[in-house]
Amino acid sequence: MGYDRNTPTHTGNRALDIEERLVFEQGSPGQSGVDLPPPAAVEPRLGAVARRRTVGLPGLSEPEVVRHYTRLSQKNLGIDTAMYPLGSCTMKHNPRLNEKMARLPGFADLHPMQPMSTVRGALRLIDTLADWLKMLTGMPAVAMSPGAGAHGELCGMMAIRAALEDRGEGQGQGRRRVLVPESAHGTNPATAAALGFTVDPIPADGRGRVDLAAFRAKLGPDVAAIMLTNPNTCGLFESDIIEIADAIHEAGGLFYCDGANFNAIVGRVRPGDLGIDAMHINLHKTFSTPHGGGGPGSGPVVLSAALAPFAPVPSVVHGPDGLTLVEHVGRDGAEKSFGRMKGFHGQMGMFVRALAYMLSHGADGLRQASGDAVLNANYVMARLQDVMSAPFAGPCMHEVLFDDHFLHDTGVSTLDFAKAMMDEGFHPMTMYFPLVVHGAMLIEPTESESRETLDGFVATMRALAERAKAGDAEYFHGAPYHTPRRRLDETTAARKPILRWRPEPETKAAAE
Ligand SMILES: *Cc1c(COP(=O)(O)O)cnc(C)c1O
Repeated sequence: MGYDRNTPTHTGNRALDIEERLVFEQGSPGQSGVDLPPPAAVEPRLGAVARRRTVGLPGLSEPEVVRHYTRLSQKNLGIDTAMYPLGSCTMKHNPRLNEKMARLPGFADLHPMQPMSTVRGALRLIDTLADWLKMLTGMPAVAMSPGAGAHGELCGMMAIRAALEDRGEGQGQGRRRVLVPESAHGTNPATAAALGFTVDPIPADGRGRVDLAAFRAKLGPDVAAIMLTNPNTCGLFESDIIEIADAIHEAGGLFYCDGANFNAIVGRVRPGDLGIDAMHINLHKTFSTPHGGGGPGSGPVVLSAALAPFAPVPSVVHGPDGLTLVEHVGRDGAEKSFGRMKGFHGQMGMFVRALAYMLSHGADGLRQASGDAVLNANYVMARLQDVMSAPFAGPCMHEVLFDDHFLHDTGVSTLDFAKAMMDEGFHPMTMYFPLVVHGAMLIEPTESESRETLDGFVATMRALAERAKAGDAEYFHGAPYHTPRRRLDETTAARKPILRWRPEPETKAAAE
């Protein structure tokens, strides 16, 4: 019998796929990658507080460290290795020009505590980016400091809470209810609840949009705001958005828009024209700054004239001597500011990347990007809807939603299907979100992908759908077959994370 790719190796490694141990398990504690002369005899004066055990830090040389992290970086499907159609996350390509700009020493080496006279260029960059965001959204003000989309939601809702309090209609006076569509991202209800509001869900109608009659029926003097995503998480434009804005304002409430899906409408619709009071923009989605793995994000919040006075500090303003920072609540235009979201001014590295992206595209380029994103999603929808099941009729915006109806009676679940995609070299789409359809599969190709890549993706999805329907459930239940790890117990990993590595038992160390 011949040998093939399944032939075991002596090490367990499989060529470039190396069985990587934790950094702590490599090298010996106490060793160092650097040779230093032995320290001169010192008289320890720590007495009883002197450390008696080793700290357990790994002792590795520079090449060992480089290999460790390079190998780890190769174990994931990422945007730099494959198509990453994770719906709602806008995993677009981060042009390397952005990285080049962010690494310029004048930006990369800035320190937030530098004297103001030495950071004029940085203030100018923040101010220019703020101008672009205001122009693209048609809103008069923007708070730049929030560090992510969810942080931006918190910022916008804190501004709303402050504005309501200012007019004597705060939570204490009864404006306590926040309306949130059932399809909302989990961060929306979480934000409202964290700020002491009660969350009241609004059902979707048969078209995947807010049920306008149900929404109107919920309005009342205790409603503080609506938090609406547009385009929504079903990938659909909320066609009644102007009626919704008018109705919430008539009822004395304010309009928060989750702008995470701004990529679908940049250069085409200005949220300010739709009656929105606050909206966060995920620079790390729409404007290509890198994300994944929890950071670093950046979530500036545009604000209407009604909310602008309540914006957080610090903010960059035009003073008599040029650009300067307003850092203190209670003066210099920040009389009504609700306070501070963050230690400093925001994610400078992301500001540089986002502005590089905007300036290299120009206004027409940004408009084309949103058009191409929508075109790509509709192409995927059109080429898959005969073998998969789309719960809502198209056309869609920048992402296309399928449910698990096409897998009915196959014994294959959305999760199994996603695992099989990994073997084919694709990062799975978003699964089981939004909650309004069963077994959701939310696909967002973004404008980065070429027709050729999309055709490859479509062919793969069609082949997998046909395989499931042909009755090969067993194959799906075992997938993935080719990843470094197979099915992980993600629930236990999330609920009982092991965050601290402990050294080998002391006895073993003592015996050596
Ligand atoms: C990504 C996203 C958020 C949250 O943004 P983060 O930067 O991850 O905190 C909120 N709402 C929607 C619809 C999103 O897609």
